[in-house]
Amino acid sequence: MKISMTYLTDVMKRLLDTPSPVGYYEKMKPVIEDIASDLGYEVTYDNRDTAYITVAGRDTSKTVCLSAHADTLGFMVRGINKDGTLRIRALGGINHANVEGENVTVHTRGGKTYTGMLVCEHHSAHAFDDAKTMVRDDNTVFVLLDEFVKDADGVRALGIRHGDYISIEPRFTLTDNGFIKCRFIDNKAAMACSFAVLKAMAENGVKPKYNTVFAFSFYEEIGFGGIVVPNDISEYVAIDIAILGPDSDGSEQAVTICAKDASMPYDYSLTNRLIAAAERSGCDYAVDLFYRYGSDAGQAIKGGNNVRAAAFGMGVYSSHGVERAHLDGIENTARLMLAYALEG
Ligand SMILES: [Zn+2]
Repeated sequence: MKISMTYLTDVMKRLLDTPSPVGYYEKMKPVIEDIASDLGYEVTYDNRDTAYITVAGRDTSKTVCLSAHADTLGFMVRGINKDGTLRIRALGGINHANVEGENVTVHTRGGKTYTGMLVCEHHSAHAFDDAKTMVRDDNTVFVLLDEFVKDADGVRALGIRHGDYISIEPRFTLTDNGFIKCRFIDNKAAMACSFAVLKAMAENGVKPKYNTVFAFSFYEEIGFGGIVVPNDISEYVAIDIAILGPDSDGSEQAVTICAKDASMPYDYSLTNRLIAAAERSGCDYAVDLFYRYGSDAGQAIKGGNNVRAAAFGMGVYSSHGVERAHLDGIENTARLMLAYALEG
């Protein structure tokens, strides 16, 4: 059974084009529903708006979960400066130096959108002595709106208010030899893998081994995405980016199975089964510890859910910045998901 990489890449682009900073599910939910409906699946939600697609297994005595968080890093408007720039508060682990100069969209609660760019308070070495050395953080990086506004009243007249969401442009690039460069490969590549696996099962008329729930959460980047797990789920596998660092065995071409994140080792027997599934299906894979990292699976454990937890994903360079991955690593991730779904 093959994973369609053309389909996966198209879905990934569509997901990347849909802004979903932490907790901003309004635009992403209809897209998830539309992609699922095209494949013949229905979507249900819990009260945290985690989306679930449930596929009945050949053996219905057990239910497992493959989750891919749908939220990304972003900002919220926290204030309006006298000069009409917006003061911000980060949602998730943003490196402010990395987003300077990036295009953003402000989403008002009244349904309007305005573009702008992220600028440092001392934005140019031509005008400020410390433009190169000023620390970039929530207090020194502002949104400069692409509007003719000169003061706070002008901004309020646009309908922009404290608490409005700000999304960052992903800037998708795919090279001829398969490298993807953009923001939010974390975690829209994993979401796209989920849909590619659902497509493969639907088109081949194949059922997973056990009831399998594909989950898409909206609070992973702040540590709460997997904290609520439906009661019938006994295994929770998070599909999320794999960290590439000084001790990594993984690569952008491979899928990495996470043995331990920042706070816990993942379940011993489930992790061993994932390693066996990778071997059996001929995936290019590695096993690594992810240092300053958490996932929906770890959050499920911290939430007190009675599940075995595991995680794996595509190797991603420069995570939480402008990230880079490779189609081979994404395909290996989808193939391991399919192997786990079909054989446990
Ligand atoms: Zn992630």
